[in-house]
Amino acid sequence: MAATASAFDLDAAALAAAVRECGGEAFRARQVGEWLYARRAASWGGMSNIPKALRAALAERLLDLDGTLETLEVAGTGGGTRKVLSRLADGELAETVLIPARDRATVCVSSQVGCAMGCAFCASGKNGCARNLSAGEIAAQAARAAVLLGRRPDNVVFMGMGEPFANYDNALAAARRMNAPPPEGFGIGARRITFSTCGVVPGIERFAREGVQFELSVSLHAPTDAMRSALMPVNARWPLGVLIPAVRAYTEATGRIVTFEYTLVAGWNDAPEHARALLALVRGFPCRVNLIPLNPVPGFAGRAPDPARCEAFRALLERHGLNATLRRSKGRGVNASCGQLRRARAAGGAPARA
Ligand code: SAH
Repeated sequence: MAATASAFDLDAAALAAAVRECGGEAFRARQVGEWLYARRAASWGGMSNIPKALRAALAERLLDLDGTLETLEVAGTGGGTRKVLSRLADGELAETVLIPARDRATVCVSSQVGCAMGCAFCASGKNGCARNLSAGEIAAQAARAAVLLGRRPDNVVFMGMGEPFANYDNALAAARRMNAPPPEGFGIGARRITFSTCGVVPGIERFAREGVQFELSVSLHAPTDAMRSALMPVNARWPLGVLIPAVRAYTEATGRIVTFEYTLVAGWNDAPEHARALLALVRGFPCRVNLIPLNPVPGFAGRAPDPARCEAFRALLERHGLNATLRRSKGRGVNASCGQLRRARAAGGAPARA
C-alpha cells in the first residue's frame, strides 16, 4: 500500500513509534528528527548516518520528503523570491513562496488546495476548494523551503492558497510543528508565524482563546460593508459590525497587535475618504495596516494605483496615528500572488516567467 502519512505529521512519540516499527533502535528517532527539522534532508535516502534498511523502511511507510514539481525564480525583484509548486500524494498541487531578504527568509505557505471564500481579486478561489491540506502537508512546505533556501526560514505566513481558519485544526497543528524545537519541529519563533484570515469570525474567536503567541492578520480591503461585500462574499456572513468587535476582543484577550491587510485597487478603495473611513473603523485597539498594491489577476478588471497614490494613502493613515506599511509587490511576472501558479497549470498554460 502506498504511504499516506507525512513524517511532518508526527510528534516525537509518533516518530519514535514509526522508527521502532521499522526496526530502528530508539536513538535513531532523534537522528531522523534532526534530519527532518535541523539538517534539511531532501530525501529519506539522504539521511547518511541512518542505516540503509531503516531509511528504506521509513521511505516505504511515510511519504517522500521531496515532492517538488518545479521552482520558479521570481525575476526582477532582486531578492531571489521563488515560487514552488509541489505535487501532493494524490496529485493535487500546493504552492509555496520563498522570500529571502538580506538577514532573514520568509516562507508563504498554503493551507488548502484552492479556496472556498471566493474573493473577487484572488486567483486561489476561482475554482473553489479541492481539499484541506493536512498539518504535515503544510509543515512540509516549510521543510521544502528550508532545503531550497539552505537555511531554516525565519518567518512563516499563511498567505498562500486557502483560508487557514477554514482548516483550523490542521493549520494550527502545522504552526505548532513549525514552532516546536528540533527534533520535533523547526524551532521557528511563534511570533514569526502569522495566520492570515479573510474574516472567519469563529476562527478569530477560537484563536483568541488558544493561548498561543502566533500573529494574526485580517484581510480587510475595504472600509464599508457595501464595498467589502462587493468583493468578499465572506462579508455577508460576518460583516464589519461583527468582524471588527471580534478583532478588538482578540487584541483584548491576547494583548497582541493585529495587522489588517488592505489591497489597494485603483479608483475603488484608494481615495482619501477611504483612508479616513478605515481610520474610523479600526480606532481604539492596537493594530497596524499592511497596504498591498493589487497584483493583477485574470478575471478581475482592477489594477494597482500608481506608487504615489499608494504612498499618499499610507501617509494619510500614518498622519492620524495608524501605523501603515506599503508592501512592495514581488513576483508579478510569475503569477506569484495567491493561487495563480496552480491555476495557470490547471488551465494547461505554461507558468509565466518574468
Ligand atoms: N485566505 C487568507 C490568506 C490567503 S491570501 C486571507 O484572505 O487572508 C493572503 C493575502 O493576499 C490576503 O490579504 C489576500 O486578500 C491577498 N490577495 C489575494 N489576491 C491578491 C491580489 N491579486 N493582489 C493583492 N493581494 C491579494
